[in-house]
Amino acid sequence: MKFFGFFVSALFLNLTLFAQSIHHKLSMPEPQSHYFHVQVEVSDMPGEELIMVLPVWAPGSYLVREFSQNINVVKAKDEKGKALPINKTEKNKWKIQKGSAKKVVLNYEYYAFELTVRTSFLDLTHGYLNGTNVFMYPEGHLDLGGKLTIFPHATFSKITTALPKASEGVSSDAGTTFTFENYDQLGDCPIEIGNQEEFSFTAAGIKHNVAMYGVGNYDIPKLQRDMAKIVEATTAVFGENPNKEYWFIIHNTTTGSGGLEHTNSTTLNVNRWSYEGDDYLGFLSLVAHEYFHLWNVKRLRPDALWPYVYDKESYTDLLWVMEGFTSYYDELILRRAGFYSKEEYLGKVKSTLNYVESSVGNKVQPVAHASFDAWIKAYRPNENSSNTTVSYYPKGHLIAFVFDAMIIKANKGKKSLDDLMQVLYTKYYKELKRGFTTDELRAELEAMTKTDLKEFFNNHIDGVETIDYPKYLKEVGLTISLQEGEQVLFGATASDDGGRVMVKRITAGSAAEKNGLSVNDEVIAFNGFRVTKSTFTDYTNALQPGDTFNLIINRDNQLMVLDCVMGTLPFVRYTFDLDEDNKLGQYWLRTL
Ligand SMILES: [Zn+2]
Repeated sequence: MKFFGFFVSALFLNLTLFAQSIHHKLSMPEPQSHYFHVQVEVSDMPGEELIMVLPVWAPGSYLVREFSQNINVVKAKDEKGKALPINKTEKNKWKIQKGSAKKVVLNYEYYAFELTVRTSFLDLTHGYLNGTNVFMYPEGHLDLGGKLTIFPHATFSKITTALPKASEGVSSDAGTTFTFENYDQLGDCPIEIGNQEEFSFTAAGIKHNVAMYGVGNYDIPKLQRDMAKIVEATTAVFGENPNKEYWFIIHNTTTGSGGLEHTNSTTLNVNRWSYEGDDYLGFLSLVAHEYFHLWNVKRLRPDALWPYVYDKESYTDLLWVMEGFTSYYDELILRRAGFYSKEEYLGKVKSTLNYVESSVGNKVQPVAHASFDAWIKAYRPNENSSNTTVSYYPKGHLIAFVFDAMIIKANKGKKSLDDLMQVLYTKYYKELKRGFTTDELRAELEAMTKTDLKEFFNNHIDGVETIDYPKYLKEVGLTISLQEGEQVLFGATASDDGGRVMVKRITAGSAAEKNGLSVNDEVIAFNGFRVTKSTFTDYTNALQPGDTFNLIINRDNQLMVLDCVMGTLPFVRYTFDLDEDNKLGQYWLRTL
């Protein structure tokens, strides 16, 4: 009976699943208006009511972005075209009284005018969207697969996305249809629609497609060669590449704002002139970073980040592993692929070390807290952030470096951090098919380093004690010297705002703070002399500790005189000396 019962319910379940479906249709009849038109058909859902939900954040970018603010009105009708009652129940949820309707058809427009990797954009030159911004899902049915049909504007000839194509070569009126197995896949495949320049290359046995939007000084044969090297070196870290095909969407813009990782694609937004010299190494490092994420964060990840919860924050204290380890590898991979000499690579690590250890917030915020509070701090910086926060990117980079050295030492140059990544990937992603916890990560690290890391975690990850870098890194042949002392600094950072010297940041504990200068003050004069941004800096830099002076400032349209005494701020400077004969160091800095 049990077996029979199972059979019947499984059959029923299959039939039910088969019947339920969702079909999104995306068009853009007036790209200059920046509105995508979206129609969603949801069929055979149970119940009298249907609740449709739009995510509030895009995975990989830890900020509630309230995508629903870009939607004006949502209309609902049934399969016969009869209007159905619809009302909002939350900021990002719409309830439709569907009654016995077999099909609910929703229509809405989405205002897309923010060209970053995690948002959406549409104008006469192209369209770009992240599914999490634009497409709704029926509440409780994230597992519902379906179709997406895109009707590009008549002037757009290409669609680039990692979504599988359902129909090929159909007439433009019928659009191009893609399929998705569940909402996670739809949300995880950004879409570029326009006249992008496309090329491809094969690396690690996989076809990689590149779509270039925007003018830039890129050289396609050079990119094909160099991006392939990055792919090969990144794949070598994990020993295998889980994708069958991969897509890069690259936006070439004036400023460039970084990248966002996806399971089998990425979007990069880069300065259009960044394909030469040092900027080009920065571009390749971004490629390595986002490509590394296809394992680290998209597959091996903290338990809090899988499965995704789209309508609220997902808290994890492990972003220093997700982003920090990725930052460590995005430079190390360039060394392994032969883009950096040993000296150039060490220069990068040294500047990361000096940056982190010189920052005031590094002594205030543990890196685990920086991760947990990314939603309200890292992604919402204010004028005081540098005094109170540490970035889990460079701090996590340094911690990865220390763990790499510990693993290399404990295993006499036979294993490295690569092996830890492989263990995490194999055990938690492939075998257990789940995310990992902080305790599990620590246990894997302890096994690999043959060291009890409780104190290390307490002091340096949940605490702000300075890591003893010289002790750990001498094992890979690095003699690290530390100079510490006091430097003469006023501690106010100003900008030139149309000729006005505006205070933007005040360093905690500085003379500027003690003397009463504040962010948003306009500095008018130093000892009675009118200042510009550069003379303000010159005057204060010429002072000695204890020197007295006065500033005339404008605070909220009231002039004030501040009597000041010059002071100092602590400084730290690490220098590196590499023993070229150290065998473990040679292994650490190996090239492919
Ligand atoms: Zn990242």
